[in-house]
Amino acid sequence: MIQEKEHKGVVFSCEVFPPKRDDDIYQIYKTLDEIKTLKPDFISVTYGAGGSNSKKTATIAAYIQNICEVEALAHMTAVGMDEASLRALLFELKKKGVENILALRGDKPRTMSQEEFDQRYFKYATDLIPEIKKNGDFFIAGACYPEVHPESKNQEEDIQHLKQKVDLGLNCLITQMFFDNNAFYSFMDKLEKAGIDIPVHAGIMPVTAAKQLGTSVTLSGSSVPVEMSNMIAKYGENPEDMKKAGIEYAVNQILDLKKHGVAGVHIYSMNKADVTKQIYEASF
Ligand code: FAD
Repeated sequence: MIQEKEHKGVVFSCEVFPPKRDDDIYQIYKTLDEIKTLKPDFISVTYGAGGSNSKKTATIAAYIQNICEVEALAHMTAVGMDEASLRALLFELKKKGVENILALRGDKPRTMSQEEFDQRYFKYATDLIPEIKKNGDFFIAGACYPEVHPESKNQEEDIQHLKQKVDLGLNCLITQMFFDNNAFYSFMDKLEKAGIDIPVHAGIMPVTAAKQLGTSVTLSGSSVPVEMSNMIAKYGENPEDMKKAGIEYAVNQILDLKKHGVAGVHIYSMNKADVTKQIYEASF
């Protein structure tokens, strides 16, 4: 189980996602074999509601836990889940030796109708957490949003909901990606005022290809500072230079976060071991 409180330095972790094609599962094992040499405190695996991809999360988490011998944090979304399916998934994770869960509400999958989404069994991450606790002794992490969750009216309301989530017994929080550290520092001040004092791991996404702006970054709702737009305008057409600049941007973010006493850094690795390694080596 992740031992957050005993950690003396800055916690280092990263995220991987299951490959779409079953045949590519060995590719992710290869990536993990490389990432584990950095001795991360934990590696998280994303979860896609429904379909075969959701089963791959448990398989990959078991690989991280048992073969890589690194703490695995399995993401889990409330959407598409009911009490019985939750119990079955928790049982499977426990059986595989995985004791750490990132409890999420999730978004509406493309295959789900709006009506089905609106009538989901667990409404919010707050509904999922007590159910997980009922079913065993798990380390439970939650998600948070330095630039406000897109569905929230304002930050005050978002932080009130976050406080409810934390008070249910979360062990730590992991942030949505952000590219302007000031957004994170201002968020941390507000969490302190709200009485939220569990460790917050800063989510860092290396933007190493211009096309990421059209996909993952846009979907996250995170704002893109001028410095980053300038970087993309300058290097976007040249993949090698763009990769170098994106790594440097992430390293500078991390060095600044460490100076400001961040509890942990969580790298959205995008399944790229070489990028993760270069960032780690330059910033830890
Ligand atoms: P919640 O904490 O439930 O909040 C969702 C919204 O509802 C917020 O606006 C909140 O303010 C509001 N809210 C919360 N409680 C209440 C309440 N009681 N009453 C009214 N409103 C309320 N998605 C995936 O599908 N798979 C993944 O693996 C995945 N991994 C992620 C990892 C991280 C670190 C992050 C930051 C996000 C991840 N996501 C993932 C995306 C996430 O599922 C979405 O952002 C989703 O929209 C919100 O999930 P949540 O757990 O933060 O929701």
